[in-house]
Amino acid sequence: MTDRKAQLAANLAQVEDRIASACVAAGREREEVTLIVVTKTYPASDVRILSELGVRDVAENRDQDAAPKAAECADLPLRWHFVGQLQTNKVRSVVGYADLVQSVDRSKLVTSLSAAAVRAEREVGCLIQVALDAEENGRGERGGVGPGGIEELAALVADAPGLRIDGLMTVAPLTGPYAGRQRAAFERLMDLSTDLRRAHPAANMVSAGMSADLEEAVAAGATHVRVGTAVLGVRPRLG
Ligand SMILES: *Cc1c(COP(=O)(O)O)cnc(C)c1O
Repeated sequence: MTDRKAQLAANLAQVEDRIASACVAAGREREEVTLIVVTKTYPASDVRILSELGVRDVAENRDQDAAPKAAECADLPLRWHFVGQLQTNKVRSVVGYADLVQSVDRSKLVTSLSAAAVRAEREVGCLIQVALDAEENGRGERGGVGPGGIEELAALVADAPGLRIDGLMTVAPLTGPYAGRQRAAFERLMDLSTDLRRAHPAANMVSAGMSADLEEAVAAGATHVRVGTAVLGVRPRLG
């Protein structure tokens, strides 16, 4: 085993322990939580090693970085999640490799994703990114739509050819009433997910929690955690 593979295996085992312990503490089955490894800024060679180590879900946040990496790893049995702020001029490229886009936060993006998915003859799963630091219908500092905007966007996705509404995603806010209160933020996201599932019962993905707060996310009921640093190491600046 190469040094890098041994290192990634050790990190993965630690993250796996954390998820398993958090599930036990929350009285949840381990299978209820999917680990998504955020590989942004790290090379395709690391993605390949992760795949060898059994990782099945990876995430990226910049198309420029992700597109060539996904192309190099096209032979691997991976599901690619796009989790970054997405400009409409990048949508065509992203739809070429992303199975899910977790950062859907405005109607113009839905229209654009739908057109690209139809053209590529692909079905793209969509999560609405919720900004818990935004006004009800406003937009968050780091992308996302306020809670009041979820219903309308979800309906738009559900009706859009080529798209599927799969659930909600959030990043714990650094400002506003939930700053420093990850558990409360993730519980609020769960309540919003309950509301969403009344209209869209299959939209049961709840993507929350990163390296620093995955325990809080699992405790609140997240179905997917997105972990970068704890698996791959501290990113060089510009991550
Ligand atoms: C980078 C990133 C993560 C992973 O963050 P870590 O702190 O490195 O685990 C999760 N979600 C999103 C949206 C990200 O951009």
